[in-house]
Amino acid sequence: MKRDLVCIVCPKGCRLTLEYEGNNLLSVGGATCPKGKEYATSEISDPRRNFAGSVTIRGGRFRTCSVKSSHSIPLDKLIRLGELSHGITIDAPVNVGDTVASGLLDGEVDLIATRKVPRV
Ligand code: SF4
Repeated sequence: MKRDLVCIVCPKGCRLTLEYEGNNLLSVGGATCPKGKEYATSEISDPRRNFAGSVTIRGGRFRTCSVKSSHSIPLDKLIRLGELSHGITIDAPVNVGDTVASGLLDGEVDLIATRKVPRV
C-alpha cells in the first residue's frame, strides 16, 4: 500500500511517501533526516500524539490552565483524554510543571501544567 503524509517531528514538514504492508514499512521517500523514517514507522504501526488542552481553575487569576500530556499517547485515545481534561477542576495556585491530574486513561498518562496561575 502507499500513503502520503507530512512529517510533524520538526517545523520543516517534509512530505513523505510511504510504501508498506500491514505494519511493515517497506520504503519512505521524501524524508530529509532519519527521524522521518522513525515517524513513518510509528504512523503505520502505533500512531501517537502529545495532548495539549486545559483544565478549570478555582480561585485563580485565570479560569483555566493549559496542560499537556506527560508523554505521547495512542492517537485513538486523544479525544477521550480531551473529554477527561474538560471535567477536571483544581484549586489555584498552579505552577508550570505541576501534575494537575495523574493516572488518566487507566493509569497511562498524567496531565502537566504549562501555565502559571496565581491565587487571587
Ligand atoms: S524528516 Fe526530518 S527534517 Fe523532515 S520534517 Fe521530519 S524530522 Fe524534520
